[in-house]
Amino acid sequence: GKSAGRNAIRFFNPDMQHKVEQRASMETALSRALEQREFELYYQPQIDREGGLLGAEVLLRWIPEPGKPVSPAEFIPLAEDTGLIVPLGYWVLETACLQLRAWQQQCPERGFSLAVNISARQFHQHDFIRRLQEIIERSGADPCGLKLELTESVVLDDIAGVIEKIDGLRRLGLGFSMDDFGTGYSSLSYLKRLPLDQLKIDTSFVRDLAHSANDLAIVRAIIAMGHSLNLHVIAEGVETAEQKVYLERYGCDAYQGYLFGRPMAAREFESRFIVAAAR
Ligand code: C2E
Ligand code: CA
Ligand code: CA
Ligand code: CA
Repeated sequence: GKSAGRNAIRFFNPDMQHKVEQRASMETALSRALEQREFELYYQPQIDREGGLLGAEVLLRWIPEPGKPVSPAEFIPLAEDTGLIVPLGYWVLETACLQLRAWQQQCPERGFSLAVNISARQFHQHDFIRRLQEIIERSGADPCGLKLELTESVVLDDIAGVIEKIDGLRRLGLGFSMDDFGTGYSSLSYLKRLPLDQLKIDTSFVRDLAHSANDLAIVRAIIAMGHSLNLHVIAEGVETAEQKVYLERYGCDAYQGYLFGRPMAAREFESRFIVAAAR
């Protein structure tokens, strides 16, 4: 109608229109993708100071066309907006637990763990603990090998409720890691209260570690603070031997990054890391 004319002119900025259409078609494609089995889990090794395998981070891939994986950075925000992240997140947990059981059987003597990213929206579902418990039981995996990576956005509200939920899951044997540490809004007083096992230093602090005195100071401080809270500290995005030398010097407990291996399909991870470790 005529009265909508002025707003319509603003809305039909061609660039914006294009973005809206792109988003809508991606939303449709994404909602079909679960049924069409277009998702796959990749695994990236986590390595201790002695070079031993600790486990892997589980990283979601959307592969709508063969050979053309879409980064989760592009679709996770949309999946969160639409709520698809909830069923998708349970699919990730189910698939990861089945994989965990298989790898636990292949190297039974070691404390191998898989770290799964949990979005705030999923974590805050009222039946999250019960459903996760069902998934673990059905898979036959030992829950001690399952670690959940939470971001600071999870603790934005209702810290008491979050602590209670983490405690409930800890009683099942699960571990907890604070992901992307230092990039969010959580305060140190939150960190002190949360029953975590691990801090994960974000890539953004690791990237220029060897050339930035500020980043070096931040990384040192995070490691020292993590240790004083009895947390295991892992760095992500470790790409160079130089970065590793600094992290090692300041007492970082573990590393993850292209220097040790890119995220890879289960079969490749198994032949490169599980079979080698079981020997
Ligand atoms: P994140 O949790 O911080 O995961 C680490 C990201 O860094 C991954 O990106 C990984 O591929 C990338 N990476 C690993 N090593 C290096 C390195 O040496 N250098 C550089 N430059 N990057 C490295 P990816 O796989 O694209 O995932 C992006 C984000 O999507 C993740 O960030 C995580 O927040 C989210 N995500 C991934 N999988 C899931 C999932 O199953 N559920 C949820 N809720 N989020 C997920
Ligand atoms: Ca993560
Ligand atoms: Ca991270
Ligand atoms: Ca990160």
